[in-house]
Amino acid sequence: MTIKFSIPYLVGKELENVRLCLEELHLSGDGPFTRRCHAWLQHEFGASALLTHSCTAALEMAAILAKLEPDDEVIMPSFTFVSTANAFVLRGARPVFIDIRPDTLNIDERKLEEALSSRTKAIAVVHYAGVACEMDTILRFANKHGLMVIEDAAQALRCTYKNRPLGTFGATAALSFHETKNVVSGEGGALLINDPSLVERAHIIREKGTNRTQFLRRKVAKYEWLDVGSSYLPSDLIAAVLLAQLEEIDAIIERRRTAWEQYHEALLPLEAKGLLRRPFVPADAVHNGHIYYVILPEAAVVQRLVQGLRAQHIGSTTHYVPLHSAPAGQRFGRAVGSMSVTDQVAARLLRLPLHAGIGERDINLVIDTITTVLTAAQGLAN
Ligand SMILES: *Cc1c(COP(=O)(O)O)cnc(C)c1O
Repeated sequence: MTIKFSIPYLVGKELENVRLCLEELHLSGDGPFTRRCHAWLQHEFGASALLTHSCTAALEMAAILAKLEPDDEVIMPSFTFVSTANAFVLRGARPVFIDIRPDTLNIDERKLEEALSSRTKAIAVVHYAGVACEMDTILRFANKHGLMVIEDAAQALRCTYKNRPLGTFGATAALSFHETKNVVSGEGGALLINDPSLVERAHIIREKGTNRTQFLRRKVAKYEWLDVGSSYLPSDLIAAVLLAQLEEIDAIIERRRTAWEQYHEALLPLEAKGLLRRPFVPADAVHNGHIYYVILPEAAVVQRLVQGLRAQHIGSTTHYVPLHSAPAGQRFGRAVGSMSVTDQVAARLLRLPLHAGIGERDINLVIDTITTVLTAAQGLAN
């Protein structure tokens, strides 16, 4: 591909940080670079933050912190990455899938009531493409029924809902620094802990179920096994890369948003002709340019467009196979109500090349190709 769908964007200081880390010889977790990343995240979110080796790991920690018992239920969208559901299935809980909103493609808060049962313990929300879920309604519902809210904020770093950062609404929130995300460390993630009563246990879970964090802070003479847990912390080498990226977050997001805006403006005429639908961002949400997608009139047009783009060496990619229709989703979860929006969006959504290093000329070529393919297809239909 000449125009790749995604390329990790390096800010320049990563190698220097890795060199310093190697000289420091603190290669395991929670070294100087991890501490600086924690400080950065704590300042950004006003919450406790712990680096993990992935967003998947952070979600697993969140599921342990939710104290789920077998057969407890967690309401979530079906249009999401497997890790949102797997984390809870690993605790013996059941994902209960509901449909998404046709506009933002986020969990449809109007469907929560129908999914509520005596076993419901939590709601896992996913801010798709960094666009906020309808948090006021979701939090009101959760408070009314005593449910924990967990945010899968993997795509939502530097996004807001009513001027407040995503990741600060749930009891916990999970971030991803996977190389396909906006800010990257290869693999990587973080758990944000907004409920102070969960912080101490989060440290224990992340350190193999021990109070090793207390020991390293010289609060206890020996560390011992206290709880369930695993090894969720990344090497300080990962944090060295991540810190360089976090320090340049403004520039990274600016670049992505500029590319996003270029697509959005140029594709308006095709939307006006009914040839595609562009992303919708509510007035009270600010996004981070993580994904630019188009929704096409039917699945056959997706195939035609993918081929047309590929012929110009342009990468594009669909997104999730809905979890409720995947083999493991059927085995471990259940769907409540119609899933027609999820099914339709999954079949018709295509993501366009977008990364911090993409240039205006590349985007113009993508737009020209889309215009040619879709208007030719329209000509055929007429
Ligand atoms: C990327 C992503 C994840 C997984 O992140 P990893 O860091 O790769 O574990 C989970 N949920 C959503 C919504 C994602 O986009």
